[in-house]
Amino acid sequence: MKNLKYILPIAIALFTACSNNQKMEDPKQQNELVFPQGKKITNDNFTGTAYLQMLMDADSLNSISVGNVTFEPGARSKWHTHPAGQILLVTDGVGYYQEKGQPKKILRKGDAIKCPPDVPHWHGASADTAFVQLAITGREKGETVWLEAVTDEEYHK
Ligand code: MN
Repeated sequence: MKNLKYILPIAIALFTACSNNQKMEDPKQQNELVFPQGKKITNDNFTGTAYLQMLMDADSLNSISVGNVTFEPGARSKWHTHPAGQILLVTDGVGYYQEKGQPKKILRKGDAIKCPPDVPHWHGASADTAFVQLAITGREKGETVWLEAVTDEEYHK
């Protein structure tokens, strides 16, 4: 019984080391979502299947909202504008961002992009890979203005 005071701390240290090690090496754990996927978007501002989880609403201290948007392959927003602009942070997958009159850009995990105020644009997944982005949207000048759908021709161009 006297040995218990030596054995117990060693046992705890070993257990802690093992469980930390498991966390580092388990690829399944590394692939876990950073933020919740949220609910399927049911409005008609998107083509295909997309999900939204609002993480932060604008308030009197911060006039921005933060939402996590997940696009299944081929899914995309309609053309739209943000009166106070938007920042997109890509957390997973491969997607597209296009401003009216510009070639579409390919976005990958780790990319950050700024959508200027009132510039028509769309964003979404690539044709064969899902895409996850945080949308940080300025809210002090009004709501997003939704325009026409992105046609298949525009999407694949
Ligand atoms: Mn946008």
